[in-house]
Amino acid sequence: MPNDESSKMNSKQSAAEFDAIIRAAVDGVIVIDERGSIQLFNAGAENIFGYHEHDVIGRNVSMLMPAPDRDRHDGYIANYLSGCPPKIIGNGREVSGMRRNGEIFPMELTVGEAHTEETHRFVGLIKDITVRRETEKALQTSELRYRTLFDRAPLGIFTADRNGIFQSLNQILIRMLGYVESELDPDMGCVSMCEDSSVSAAQSMLDFVRSSTEGSAFERLHWKTKSGERLVVDVHLTCVGQRENQDFIIGHVTDRTREVEAAAGLQLAQRRIAQAGRLTTLGEMATAIAHEINQPLTAISTYAQACRRLLDADDSDPQVIRPAFDSIYEQSMRAGEVVRRIRGFVRDRESTRRHEDINDIVTSSVDLAAFELRESKVETRLELAPGLPRILVDRIQIQQVCLNLIRNAIDALAEKRSEREIVLLTSTSEDRIQVSVADNGDGIAEELQPTLFQPFLTTKEHGMGLGLSISQSIIDTHGGKLAYANAEGGGAIFTFELPAGEPNRE
Ligand code: ADP
Repeated sequence: MPNDESSKMNSKQSAAEFDAIIRAAVDGVIVIDERGSIQLFNAGAENIFGYHEHDVIGRNVSMLMPAPDRDRHDGYIANYLSGCPPKIIGNGREVSGMRRNGEIFPMELTVGEAHTEETHRFVGLIKDITVRRETEKALQTSELRYRTLFDRAPLGIFTADRNGIFQSLNQILIRMLGYVESELDPDMGCVSMCEDSSVSAAQSMLDFVRSSTEGSAFERLHWKTKSGERLVVDVHLTCVGQRENQDFIIGHVTDRTREVEAAAGLQLAQRRIAQAGRLTTLGEMATAIAHEINQPLTAISTYAQACRRLLDADDSDPQVIRPAFDSIYEQSMRAGEVVRRIRGFVRDRESTRRHEDINDIVTSSVDLAAFELRESKVETRLELAPGLPRILVDRIQIQQVCLNLIRNAIDALAEKRSEREIVLLTSTSEDRIQVSVADNGDGIAEELQPTLFQPFLTTKEHGMGLGLSISQSIIDTHGGKLAYANAEGGGAIFTFELPAGEPNRE
């Protein structure tokens, strides 16, 4: 075969191969001539645009474009051919295409130029990026949704590295800490935010989430705000990820400062009210107390006068005088004991709870009321169950409740002519202990019953109406209950119950 024949054959063959490759390409390939008329439209392009090859060959490529490119495309080619710098040729760019059904879609278009002696062609490579764009949009929406969730959540959220150093903080947390975003220090973390007292708790929580498979821990910590104020926070840490160098920590932070301050304020207010209540009670008992102290003082002065007479006598015998001095000592101790008991009762102090013997508290309350009981000629009977479990209480406050109930019972018996009696009873059932104060007065008037525990309710001329409401709040804060009932034979029974502690081993 002559050479030019064989080279013709070769070029025919390679043109056919090239054509086959183009047609088989997954992406769309469209070849146009200088007038924009479509010369080649491969299967990829058919898939993308929804046209069959024979629908488009020879037609202007602008049919595949939406406005405004559709009307301008011929102008673009003319400009380029007249020597204007190319806009798209040689570059890839994102443009819009239009499918047969009119749908406009995003596509990536790269245009090359194929120049031979006879022909001048433009080759467009087209990638339909609808799915990519939709995925990107979905990702953006999801990112926006999670970002909003992160920033608008009603609690502080942070992510941190394995050492607890913050990587991101939501707006609420940034505000909670008293910062603006630009002021955040790259060394800040859930341990470095702590006041000294919380550092070890925060560190152990971090160690725990890093090492455990569950990877979750909770602590109440004291953090510092930017201005150095204390922030009481509940921090919940979760470790995310399986591999050491990839895992990170998510923290949820709830600000408890206000609640803790309010609780402390409430506790202080309750303490003050309770103390005021004790002072009132003692004020009401003043006559009886004065009388109680007066007795030993009178005795002391009588003994002192006797001693003086004995000393004035010429034959004063120390053996005779000594017992009088002993009596003076005894009586002064008695007066001192009354004062000590009263001071212990009214002192303003932090509320402290210890494991106490309830029978001992009841007995000491009766001792405090002893003067009044005697003055009012009221018999007291104690029916104390032995071996009761100890209870975790503030002794003075429970004494206060007992004293209030005893004093009310004394008042209730004031009109009774004889057989005035108060019974104090202790018992236990299940895991609670009960204390009852019963009297044989007239009981509680029916109309008082619904509002009995409300403050300032009183039927007494000089009453404050606070005894029962203070007693109820004391019992409530001890996790117990105060209730009343009218006794069958007349009279009132007030009973409070408290959670029992460990068995009494004494
Ligand atoms: P106060 O003793 O200052 O009146 P309290 O809150 O202790 O205040 O009592 C409120 C009222 O409940 C009393 O005024 C009285 O009418 C009634 N009350 C309390 N205890 C008894 C009782 N044991 N018997 C009859 N009434 C009682």
